[in-house]
Amino acid sequence: MADATESDSRRLLRRLRDTLAEQGKGQERLDRITHLIADSIGCEVCSIYLFRDDDTLELCATEGLKAESVHQTRLRLGEGLVGRVAKSGSPINTANAPGEKGFRYMPETGEEIYSAFLGVPIQRLGEALGVLVVQSKLARQYTEDEVYALEVVAMVLAEMTELGAFVGEGEALARLHTHPALFRGGTGQEGTAEGRVWLHEPRVVVTNPVADDPQAECERLRRAVEELRLSVDTLVTEADIGDGEQKQVLETYRMFANSRGWLARMEEDILRGLSAEAAVEKEQSATRTRMDQVADPYLRERLHDLDDISNRLLRILTGQGKETGAAMPDNPVLVARNIGPGELLEYGRKLKGVVLEEGSVGSHAAVVARALAIPLVIHADRITTEALNGDHILVDGDQGIVHLRPDDNVAAAFRDKIAMQAKAMERYAGLKLLPAQALCGTTVGLHMNAGLMADLPSLEGSGALGVGLFRTELQFLIRNQVPKRGELAALYSRVLDAAKGRRVAFRTLDIGSDKVLPYMKRVAEPNPAMGWRAIRVGLEKPGVLRMQLQALLRAARGRPLTVMFPFVAQFEEFLQARDHLMREIDREGQLGHVLPERIEIGAMLETPSLAFAPKQFFELADFISIGGNDLKQFFYAADRENERVRRRYDTLNVSFLTFIGHIVDRCAETGTPLSFCGEDAGRPVEALCLAAMGLRTLSMRPASIGPVKALLRRVSIAETRAVIDEAAARGLPSVRPAVMEWLARHAEVM
Ligand code: PEP
Ligand code: MG
Repeated sequence: MADATESDSRRLLRRLRDTLAEQGKGQERLDRITHLIADSIGCEVCSIYLFRDDDTLELCATEGLKAESVHQTRLRLGEGLVGRVAKSGSPINTANAPGEKGFRYMPETGEEIYSAFLGVPIQRLGEALGVLVVQSKLARQYTEDEVYALEVVAMVLAEMTELGAFVGEGEALARLHTHPALFRGGTGQEGTAEGRVWLHEPRVVVTNPVADDPQAECERLRRAVEELRLSVDTLVTEADIGDGEQKQVLETYRMFANSRGWLARMEEDILRGLSAEAAVEKEQSATRTRMDQVADPYLRERLHDLDDISNRLLRILTGQGKETGAAMPDNPVLVARNIGPGELLEYGRKLKGVVLEEGSVGSHAAVVARALAIPLVIHADRITTEALNGDHILVDGDQGIVHLRPDDNVAAAFRDKIAMQAKAMERYAGLKLLPAQALCGTTVGLHMNAGLMADLPSLEGSGALGVGLFRTELQFLIRNQVPKRGELAALYSRVLDAAKGRRVAFRTLDIGSDKVLPYMKRVAEPNPAMGWRAIRVGLEKPGVLRMQLQALLRAARGRPLTVMFPFVAQFEEFLQARDHLMREIDREGQLGHVLPERIEIGAMLETPSLAFAPKQFFELADFISIGGNDLKQFFYAADRENERVRRRYDTLNVSFLTFIGHIVDRCAETGTPLSFCGEDAGRPVEALCLAAMGLRTLSMRPASIGPVKALLRRVSIAETRAVIDEAAARGLPSVRPAVMEWLARHAEVM
């Protein structure tokens, strides 16, 4: 391998392609390839190691090492030099392998006589498939050119592996994407689903990794890059987006699309013998490897942008758009790296489940999935690399687990679980018309949370008494511009029609923090959750708030209207927000419009400060609704989006329940109606404890109403309170163990 000139590597790739075109089983092909590489580049040893499972590499073919070690020699990920190459995704090049850190001597291979070692990863789009190694007796460092040439060869091997060229007997030569795979992510929305994978962005398949005419390939690449640049320019100019974050992303795209370094690297790959598509993928693989190693979130995002732009370029080159012609399977489960709320809504309820590599509990996609009641698993790392369209998939949104291509036992157990849930649903359906009345006689009003027109049919189905929280921001999040007053009024009016006289508490726009409107000017904030959000935005820039209030007033037209303001931290804010509404009522009256029959104006209590507001606040507010998700985050100073800290603090800790008790007392003093509309209201045991602390109205997602009602009807709320008080008196940090133990003895079904 003394002289790996460009034409050498091209010649090697051509021979490789010819070899691959010959008939033969996977093993024969691998054997021929190692022989060919060793022969072409003049080194004594060439070996191919492939993964037999996520953690183990197996020597699958070799020229030069002892033949009996093939399929016998195995290394764990990170073990020895080969394992290190696989783990780091980058080459190791050393003149003195035995002297290298981590070297592991494997006597069965007979490799001790070889000094020089060069190993490069065989990877496709960041997915590690194996390691390609050359070794020589002469103690020398391989040149940069040689490393590069071997990487190009590894790239072709990766493509061919993906296409199934090396399928044969044994685990290591099993076809890719056929094994069962388990992904542990997080819960975005509870529920279970069984179905078939539908990739939001299907993988681009490159069938021609090697090309003969570099000039023609470079020309194809340049034309494609030009088309890419034009399309990005159009995106930038067409998107009427001010100077928000989306524009920044597009500008980054533009920068990458115009990057000379990127184009030059790809052209160099082509000169080595790769096709234009393979060259794009090679650079994309390198980007993904870097992405895995970069800790800085900003840099990671930029690498993601580069990854996106590479995908676009690949689609231009291969002509494979999002539309691959594949038909959506029955019971589709959407698998994507991430997805916007609008796109998810377009798929709508036909999806059985959604699995994302990214996303977060509070992301817009999660909000929509929740509204559509579709099970959602987030943070399923690498699933888009593993899954193929049509793969059998099980989504366990309760546990945040996904089984891809499950074996029969797993599928059977999963179906049992779904069947049990279906049975429970039937039981809950039987309770639909019954009140949530506990054995002690106390009744709790169960309402539902909503955010889309599509939620409203659940009012009938769930037996909810009304909508305790209508999150109006969804209508804003799924559009590209601020919705018009007329559109909003029509929508709110349809919501009220669908509610058929039941109360709907419309929460005014709650944006900022994690909910960023694509068209909103974004101010960089060090801590957005505690920043310019919700009512703070509404009061400082009241244009949209007032427009929304007008829309609500017009929608109500003679009907009762309930408005609540989010994230009120102090009395003054409530006064100001209320003033805006009063002014709009006056204005509507002057315009001769029919006013609502009556108006209730409430506040969400989401920061501890409001619980200590003056009595006048409690007197003035027509009702108060505890936003437990935010309240808990600020009570414990633990980010609700940060799994690491979020789980440390329990809703049933004595401290939090005592605080809830304080809010109940303050409201009782003034007779102010109080409800709770955070996620905890929908968890049966939490709901029971909230009721025990004095809450008589809970608002939750529709699917939770059955389970919550079922528990409340089987226990005494008064006795639960006694259990809580006793646990608190004993100085226990949480009442959960005591309540659970008591329930196990006293409630038949939980
Ligand atoms: C809450 O904070 O509990 C709440 C209901 O509002 P959101 O989850 O929309 O912030
Ligand atoms: Mg909130």
